[in-house]
Amino acid sequence: AKLTNDDVRNLAKELGVKFIRLQFTDIFGILKNVAITVEQLDKALDGELMFDGSSIEGFVRIEESDMYLRPDPSTFVVFPWKPRDGAVARLICDIYNPDGTPFEGDPRYVLRRAVREAGEMGYTMNVGPEAEFFLFHVDSDGRPTTVTHDRAGYFDLTPVDLGENARRDMVLTLEQMGFEIEASHHEVAPGQHEIDFKYSDALDIADKIVTFKFVVRTIAQRHGLHATFMPKPIFGIAGSGMHLNQSLTKGGENAFYDPAASDGLSKDCLYYIGGLMKHIKAISAITNPTVNSYKRLVSGYEAPVYIAWSAHNRSPLIRIPAKRGASTRIELRSPDPSCNPYLALAVCLKAGISGIKNRIMPPSPCNRNIYEMTPDERKEHGIDSLPESLNEAVRELSRDELIQEALGEHVLNRFIEAKKIEWDRYRIQVHPWEIEEYLTKF
Ligand code: GLU
Ligand code: MG
Ligand code: MG
Repeated sequence: AKLTNDDVRNLAKELGVKFIRLQFTDIFGILKNVAITVEQLDKALDGELMFDGSSIEGFVRIEESDMYLRPDPSTFVVFPWKPRDGAVARLICDIYNPDGTPFEGDPRYVLRRAVREAGEMGYTMNVGPEAEFFLFHVDSDGRPTTVTHDRAGYFDLTPVDLGENARRDMVLTLEQMGFEIEASHHEVAPGQHEIDFKYSDALDIADKIVTFKFVVRTIAQRHGLHATFMPKPIFGIAGSGMHLNQSLTKGGENAFYDPAASDGLSKDCLYYIGGLMKHIKAISAITNPTVNSYKRLVSGYEAPVYIAWSAHNRSPLIRIPAKRGASTRIELRSPDPSCNPYLALAVCLKAGISGIKNRIMPPSPCNRNIYEMTPDERKEHGIDSLPESLNEAVRELSRDELIQEALGEHVLNRFIEAKKIEWDRYRIQVHPWEIEEYLTKF
């Protein structure tokens, strides 16, 4: 059962909690904290704690800066790493305006809104994320580098592998915080890891992704390493994705499964794929929100480039894992872990649900290796590509009314504004590649 305010009060006492971090994210998915002492817990649980929203990126202007935090008691958890006196707990919060209405700029609210819309049609979204990350060494001044001594992606493990130890510690810590870890393994690239946890409903998973990244970074630091969720830290080797396995249930049953269909996939499942594929270009601005995200979406590293789906190979955007029955799901392979998970799940759900509402049939699945097709063959099969840059993705977002509606005006405007600035700052840089290519040539 979900924890109530009373449970939180009791648990805090029982577990000797002294500090509570009230958490939320800004529109870019960056975790924010307001720390309180246990003496203020009652006030916090009653939603009476205020903070100045003007200091948070993408939130509000100075004139309208007072915001209220309403902790969600079901998110109460004690951090397993203990300071000397008193445990530290956290509560994830919803953000409210002074007049008691939910704050439109709160990413958690954006996801709640999409979840509610699906709920009105009888659907619940379940998500299983697969977040990849790199563990790098820090230099003698403690600054993160992109150096890894780990070669485990290529060779057998050495007996003492810093990364391996850190990952084990991460898994144990996450388990102590209520995560059910399904798999944890080395990824293809040296220094690259993946930890998968059990699927759950969309809001719970978005909360968990934020918590996951925080835990991974914290534990890495304790091992003298730097964990990064940057999508493509090193040219020429695999980048880090965050595949999102998605399914819908209706009346407690998996709505993507149809035992009578030849491939076991229901109409709802096909329409959901159709909706995702139709809106994927605009969705990319949210699921792949950085300049660097688009350095990952290139051929040769198991990251998708083309807008296609398949039950049989890993190259397309959407893959259908073999499991059927209650485990029937689709795997969207484009998202990367630099995204704001609340917004990412909101736009995916919105697109999928709109596919169901409007009965959008996806094109037929593509079971060939798309990367081996010639551009003409791809054209013949009607296979389009994902945006090639943040700039292109943001332009697509400015054209897609459905995805705009999913975000709401507040988040949409601030997101686009910020991303245009980010793109411009990048665009005017002189890149080391240019120096190498042109300095002596011209
Ligand atoms: N690292 C790959 C990516 O960027 C994915 C590898 C895998 O299939 O797990 O998406
Ligand atoms: Mg992986
Ligand atoms: Mg995967």
